[in-house]
Amino acid sequence: MAQLEVMEGDITKLTVDAIVNAANTTLLGGGGVDGAIHRAAGPQLLEECRILGGCETGEAKITKGYRLPAKYVIHTVGPVWSGGKRNEPALLKSCYKRSLEIAQEKDLKTIAFPCISTGVYRFPKNQAAKIAFETVKECLKTMKEIEKIIFVCFGEEDYQIYQELLGSKIEEHF
Ligand code: ADP
Repeated sequence: MAQLEVMEGDITKLTVDAIVNAANTTLLGGGGVDGAIHRAAGPQLLEECRILGGCETGEAKITKGYRLPAKYVIHTVGPVWSGGKRNEPALLKSCYKRSLEIAQEKDLKTIAFPCISTGVYRFPKNQAAKIAFETVKECLKTMKEIEKIIFVCFGEEDYQIYQELLGSKIEEHF
């Protein structure tokens, strides 16, 4: 049974099979978590990203982790929030689902997610957390090989939201 964890901290420090990057459609780096991941992984990550030819919103692509403690980076592109009528919830759901499908194809067991779209892309934090949590739970029902998912919150606000969703426990087994 997969384990769900919530933690507060920097996703680039985690020793897991894959960390997920909240990238943009160019995959050529940006600010926020994307910038932090590229800085920590080193220039070879950008070189590999260049040959991927970008990524559509709601989709995901995988690269190696280079200097990161994580073996792989799964780059996914969250939707930019523009009021909720442009399919943003479904696209955000797709980010989590496609990232996990890629992880499963590669036989990865431990995956860490940031709070996709909730930074510069302005997706409301509560709604985004619910989508993240519910999508991951739904996917894990069939993806039996995945062992652990970590939701990495960068700051107290997201941490509180995720803690509540997990029933004020740090870990939940189901
Ligand atoms: P987006 O463009 O998808 O909104 P951002 O990088 O701006 O992406 O923000 C996504 C989330 O990543 C935000 O919750 C932000 O606080 C968080 N974040 C920024 N840096 C890090 C980091 N080093 N580790 C984990 N999360 C981070």
